[in-house]
Amino acid sequence: MTNCIFCKILKNELPSARVYEDEHAIAFLDIFPFTKGHVLVIPRMHVATLVDLPQDALCGLIRAVQNVSRLVMAGMKCDGFNLAQNNGACSGQTVHHVHFHIVPRYDGVPVEWMPHKNLYAPGEMEEIAARIRGVRC
Ligand code: AMP
Ligand code: ZN
Repeated sequence: MTNCIFCKILKNELPSARVYEDEHAIAFLDIFPFTKGHVLVIPRMHVATLVDLPQDALCGLIRAVQNVSRLVMAGMKCDGFNLAQNNGACSGQTVHHVHFHIVPRYDGVPVEWMPHKNLYAPGEMEEIAARIRGVRC
């Protein structure tokens, strides 16, 4: 879709720190992460919300979410992660191309959920993306 920033990222018309791609989905770092290594997983198909996605594409997307979760766990050496997914402006969805958030978590470390902001030093985003991308499961 022309005005969708995630479609632009898919087509490389906007930059992103990509960590994963397959036939159904791509994943890249969120620019305003809740924690370092916070990844967004998006389907190649543009639809606004989870209920709009055909089930074949949804199966592909959720498989990608699991694959990327493994990469994030290993790459970020985190103890767990939050999986979040917003549908509709009322839920907090700001980009209307369906996506899952994978947010690395560490034992005993609380997260300040709002406001989320850029936590990365210059160059750190690409360094972390390379770490996640480079995991061999
Ligand atoms: P949501 O509120 O669930 O729609 O999440 C949208 C997410 O996209 C937010 O966490 C934003 O920080 C993130 N975001 C917006 N623009 C970009 C971008 N150009 N590259 C990476 N992440 C982005
Ligand atoms: Zn889109």
